[in-house]
Amino acid sequence: MTTRRGFIKTSLAGLGSLLPFSGLVSNGDRKKEPQKPIVVSTWGFGKPANEAAWKILSKNGSALDAVEQGVRVPEGEPDVQTVGYGGYPDRDGEVSLDACIQDQNGDAGSVTFLQHIKHPISVALKVKEETPHVMLTGEGALDFALEQGFEKEDLLTEKSKQAWEEWLEESDYRPDGQIPGHDTIGMLALDGAGNLSGACTTSGLAYKYHGRVADSALIGCGLFVDNEVGAAVGTGVGEEIIKVAGSHVVVEEMRRGQHPEEACRKAVQRVLKRNPDLRKTNKQVAFLALNKNGEYGGYCVREGFSYAVHDSENRMEQAEFEVKGEG
Ligand code: ASP
Repeated sequence: MTTRRGFIKTSLAGLGSLLPFSGLVSNGDRKKEPQKPIVVSTWGFGKPANEAAWKILSKNGSALDAVEQGVRVPEGEPDVQTVGYGGYPDRDGEVSLDACIQDQNGDAGSVTFLQHIKHPISVALKVKEETPHVMLTGEGALDFALEQGFEKEDLLTEKSKQAWEEWLEESDYRPDGQIPGHDTIGMLALDGAGNLSGACTTSGLAYKYHGRVADSALIGCGLFVDNEVGAAVGTGVGEEIIKVAGSHVVVEEMRRGQHPEEACRKAVQRVLKRNPDLRKTNKQVAFLALNKNGEYGGYCVREGFSYAVHDSENRMEQAEFEVKGEG
């Protein structure tokens, strides 16, 4: 479907390098000049996370520090049951976390299936900085975290335990991504020096198989940063995002000149092309992107994805969506 707005945006995309701001988008806020520094992040819990990131960015701090400190906010908040401490457990009642971080040099760190550590993003950062590797998993990731001085904690709160026990009563043990209770924080920042970084962290799908890993820990899937072009994060059913390497698709579309919102739309269309049946479910997949000029945008499969933007002010915006009146 090509709307007039979409057509104009697509047509102008190729002129992106000639125009100060090629994003003719519906939301009034986004018509203003792109700003630097800027931070964007997924869902409602992105707003307080952005505040923490902004404290760093506004004092000329680095995008890398900003995204790490930003996503630690929902990681540490027990009422956020889809990220970090207090996250919903897997189907066996155990909380396991996935996270990754990538900087302006493309250097990255990641942890998957990490148990007992409240801030997986900070462990991912240590993997990037202290090891020759990108990803550590499970027991090895936990051993490494303890070696680095992280504290071993019980991450299952009473509230999430109760939710799991209720789920157990009716469950047929087939987590399919339609259970309410997922949503990842993905955060992207452009700092005053013009460098991009991103972070992504989640407890994954509620009541997942023990050992299941989310897109959110996989570079190119839940997060991808290319400092020449832009950065992207994904949220929603991770299996769908992994199968198209979603965030990488978004960044490559930006490289071809697309505005971040249009690049996210192309990735959503890729997801739907690969799996047309997704249209008939209530599953969500969403992308959020920020380019080198400070332009940003999000797009999702179906209505409901919102994201937080902090440039001069911190605000929420609703993403446009592809599947209308179906499902
Ligand atoms: N992408 C996450 C996962 O698959 C969940 C989410 O972002 O909603 O675990």
